[in-house]
Amino acid sequence: MQVRVGILTAPHIDFIQYEKTFVLKHVRIGIGFHWDRLEDQEFAGTLEIIHNPDGTETAVNIIDMEDYLCSVISSEMSADSPLELLKAHAVISRSWLIRAVGHTDHVGYDVCADDHCQRYEGLRRMKDRAVQAVQETQGQVLTYAGEVCDCRYHKCCGGRTERFSTCWEDIDLPYLQSVECPYCGEADSRQSLNDYDQETTDYHDWQVTYTQQELHDILLEKTGIDFGDIVAITPLRRGASGRIYELKIVGTRATKILSKELTIRRAFSRTCLYSSWFDIHSTPSSLHFIGHGWGHGVGLCQIGAAEMAKRGCTYQHILSFYYPNTQLKQV
Ligand SMILES: [Zn+2]
Ligand SMILES: [Zn+2]
Repeated sequence: MQVRVGILTAPHIDFIQYEKTFVLKHVRIGIGFHWDRLEDQEFAGTLEIIHNPDGTETAVNIIDMEDYLCSVISSEMSADSPLELLKAHAVISRSWLIRAVGHTDHVGYDVCADDHCQRYEGLRRMKDRAVQAVQETQGQVLTYAGEVCDCRYHKCCGGRTERFSTCWEDIDLPYLQSVECPYCGEADSRQSLNDYDQETTDYHDWQVTYTQQELHDILLEKTGIDFGDIVAITPLRRGASGRIYELKIVGTRATKILSKELTIRRAFSRTCLYSSWFDIHSTPSSLHFIGHGWGHGVGLCQIGAAEMAKRGCTYQHILSFYYPNTQLKQV
């Protein structure tokens, strides 16, 4: 199976063609998140450039699915991570991809290369162990009741994983339930993160403090609403992990209810809060967010899974822990 991966849209795509690979210049990664940056990235497969109606160009890489997966798991995690972690990741990234093709809102390609879909950052972070993990799980997917699972995953759950409906549509899937995760908090599995993720050290428990004026300005920028002075920020509904999915902001000039975890994370940060699992302590001059976890919290906790692998768990064990009642199948 071939995958069309949309990597970069720019006024003009800058690339260098080599014999078997090509390098794309100035690829933006982590769009809108705290690790947002530019990189030059090298890819195998073929490059197609789409000329968009608005005058921009989009670089699309057409590549075999198993080769795509080798890069994905080396982009999501360090390719030096324990083999069983990489094998678990290969299975869920393959399952997610099979479900996603034809069902994303992208036009001209199947999936994008950034965190919106799965990270796909080419060849430069890849190691032999990632190739081994993909080969040893070749064609394996997770299934529930005969269907390939929507295998969501995130960086660090913070102690408990979250339900699907906290983040996306108001449905819950039997294999994306909230499980207590004792693994991501106990040991330092930071070595399993890739190079730039290792810059983030406080992912399990974190704090952010704003002055009234700072928070007013951020909310204005992110929601377009001038709240005036913030009178109260009240969580109305929390998911099973503690992640807030409905929250009320009361200001002297406006009141607004925000829904779903990513909307809430984006509203309260210049980039994006680590998660929507937080409590707020306010003083007359400042607002103090005390939070847990990094990411939406649904499905596999990457740091927790890395720790399980380090302790000797097999990839089958890791997958059945984060996706209960599922079965491994060959496609
Ligand atoms: Zn995408
Ligand atoms: Zn966890």
